[in-house]
Amino acid sequence: MTQRLYYYDAYMSEFSATVVSCKEVDGAYEVVLDKTAFFPEGGGQPADVGFINSARVFDVQERDGEIYHRCSERFAPGEDVGCSIDFERRFLNMQLHSGEHIFSGYIHQLTGFDNVGFHMGENTVTVDFNGVVSEEILAQAERLANEAIWNNIEIEAIYPNDDEIEKYDFRSKKEVDGKLRLIRIEDADLCACCGTHVHYTGEIGMVKAVAMQNYKSGVRIYLHAGARALDDYNAVNKSLRAAGALLAAKPEEVPAAIEHLLAKADARKATINELRMKINEMRCENIEEGTEYFADCIEGDSKAAQKYCDMICDKAVIGAVFADDKGEVKYCIGSRTKDVRALGEALNDALQGRGGGKPEMFQGSINCTKERAKEAFIFLMKQNLV
Ligand SMILES: [Zn+2]
Repeated sequence: MTQRLYYYDAYMSEFSATVVSCKEVDGAYEVVLDKTAFFPEGGGQPADVGFINSARVFDVQERDGEIYHRCSERFAPGEDVGCSIDFERRFLNMQLHSGEHIFSGYIHQLTGFDNVGFHMGENTVTVDFNGVVSEEILAQAERLANEAIWNNIEIEAIYPNDDEIEKYDFRSKKEVDGKLRLIRIEDADLCACCGTHVHYTGEIGMVKAVAMQNYKSGVRIYLHAGARALDDYNAVNKSLRAAGALLAAKPEEVPAAIEHLLAKADARKATINELRMKINEMRCENIEEGTEYFADCIEGDSKAAQKYCDMICDKAVIGAVFADDKGEVKYCIGSRTKDVRALGEALNDALQGRGGGKPEMFQGSINCTKERAKEAFIFLMKQNLV
């Protein structure tokens, strides 16, 4: 069985090994070494990547206790090889993983909830808890976790004997097979884990809960730590400064400036709607009393279409309005004296529309331009559907 060097030294990035076997599987080569510092995907932590000689190792998986390096080249059993892992990526994983331990440890201490899911993706780390965590508790756990980082506490791996296990009160993310490995961070956490961690909490840099959402019967929390927390801070800071420059506001004044802008936009929209309604009133003045039908196109929503259609029906026997509303065409057909439902249904059939209504008013939306819809309406009027 492969000797796992990462358990002895999580900081080993280069090592020599001997090839035990090499098999072609799905267009890649699965290489087994006598020893490895490559961490195989497991316990929520992703696999390491790197090189065996000059061949790229793009995935590492564990099956039945054996570690398989998925590799781009074939190796001969017995061959001595030089290996290197992408340590920048591994160190970030160690920062994230260690940060998650401390954070989850404090959530557990403050609420009693267990970490029931853990995933480290390419851009996000998520931890799931089996209970609802309040924003206050979240902030408290984050603060305590960062204080533990500032205190630069040692992170130890301990392997208790079977008769010692009862002495320890540890969190466990999952059942751990074989010999129990506990990761102890004094006062912060004690948890069974097979992953890789930094030696001292100070190396984590910081841990930051960036989002929380309800998930199953508890919550899912998104965490950043180490280099990723700094990258995230830089990205958010850059966005906020860019928004501030656009709004001529300081970063902390951006929300108020946006609120002000939205209120102004709402007031303008109300004025535009008022003016549009006045134009519609003027158009209605030109309709001859008793006209068989009058159809028109406007800019506006379904409410504006309904109001205008109602005004048209004061003059014409049948009114129809087609309105552009955020890229979707809404329509309204009305009459004081006729049943317009057959007309509306025929329009839906002709233009793949949807909608419904009463004898005196039929409303819906259609999948074409308002001008095309108006033409179709005029064509249907000539079919004597009402
Ligand atoms: Zn761990």
